[in-house]
Amino acid sequence: MTQLSIPTTELYRLLVESVKDYAIFALDPNGYVVSWNPGAQRFKGYTAPEIIGKHFSVFYPPEDLAVNKPQIELEIAAEVGRLEDEGWRVRKDGTQFWANVIITALRGADGELVGFAKVTRDLTQRRAAELQAVEDARRIAAEEALRRAAEMRSTELADLLDRTQRQAEEIERRRNEADVANRTKTEFLAAMSHELRTPLNAIAGYVQLLLLGVRGPLTDEQSGDLTRIQRSQQHLLSLINDILNFSRLEAGAVTYNLGPVPLGTVLDAAAGMLGPQATAKRITFALEPCPPTVRALADASKFEQILLNLVSNAVKFTQPGGHVSIRCVVADHHVLTCVQDNGPGIPADRLADIFEPFVQLDRTLGNPREGVGLGLAISRDLARGMQGDLTVESTLGKGSTFTVSLKRVTAATDAESQAPSDGR
Ligand code: ADP
Repeated sequence: MTQLSIPTTELYRLLVESVKDYAIFALDPNGYVVSWNPGAQRFKGYTAPEIIGKHFSVFYPPEDLAVNKPQIELEIAAEVGRLEDEGWRVRKDGTQFWANVIITALRGADGELVGFAKVTRDLTQRRAAELQAVEDARRIAAEEALRRAAEMRSTELADLLDRTQRQAEEIERRRNEADVANRTKTEFLAAMSHELRTPLNAIAGYVQLLLLGVRGPLTDEQSGDLTRIQRSQQHLLSLINDILNFSRLEAGAVTYNLGPVPLGTVLDAAAGMLGPQATAKRITFALEPCPPTVRALADASKFEQILLNLVSNAVKFTQPGGHVSIRCVVADHHVLTCVQDNGPGIPADRLADIFEPFVQLDRTLGNPREGVGLGLAISRDLARGMQGDLTVESTLGKGSTFTVSLKRVTAATDAESQAPSDGR
């Protein structure tokens, strides 16, 4: 057995006083400090003379003091022999450190309580490392959650894309179906109009023969009836022509013979045809002369068709005593033909509708209208087919102005179109 060269009590004193990594000190049974080692001085900042005789509660932060923690810890240590705790402790300079504390009750030979041994370790760094580890784990978890959310989002997006693609395919399929249905309708309209025109022409021919007396003399009554048949036949024919025209336009079967057209000539022709109709209805009709030099890029017969439709509408919708006029306006690159009336006008919210096929404002069963509501749809299609447009401005109760705009042809544009191509 090894022999010690110093007494045991001296050995213990040396042991306690040499330890610098632990604060080791003793308290009396009431908690007053009775011994102090260099480790205690290192952690807590007090020298032995400063702290010996003070109550150990000075090492506790205010929140622990508020719940009487120092006293409770002593009582538990006295009761069960030992108490271990981790928590904040206060240094002499008021700063705090994270401590592991073991309080052990010291009992004499008779078992009476003689004091407490208190061993404290500074775990501030370990706690910081633990907190850092917790923080790192939290950050990693948050990053992982973000990554999962991004993954989920991308799956959702892929799903959405897939669904959108399927919807687009469905829309495309329905559009094709609608196109087919529309083509079938157009072909049906074209065929039907064509078939109807043949017997109508026959009716016109035979009425003409009868009116000419080829089949024998007619009474006045018979002539009157035949004239009414003739008017109805003409009306029906014009409706059917409208439908046929429209179906051909829709089918893209209309060809345009575009070239420079002197505007005045077409305006004169339209005025010549419809002026008498206006006069018969007691509507004053004015054609402002358009200089012969004003030319537009147009198909003359289609431009005339548009103009006839606009003027006949103006005459049709304007009350006797009203006024209808045609004039041309020359702009830099366009020429405008304006057909103006002081008829009933069109409500602002219906201005777009009237260009839709089969739209007639205030048409009711009790108020059947002449026409089928195709004139403006056809006219606008024709104007656009000639790289122009048809627009309207109107004030309810005051009248309307329909404007056909066409590309202007000048000597310069003529020369341009005739210039030899450089192959570009
Ligand atoms: P339709 O003349 O066969 O009715 P349109 O397409 O030419 O067909 O005209 C469509 C509708 O636009 C007409 O029914 C009418 O309600 C309105 N409209 C056209 N021109 C005029 C006008 N000058 N004044 C008032 N309303 C008009």
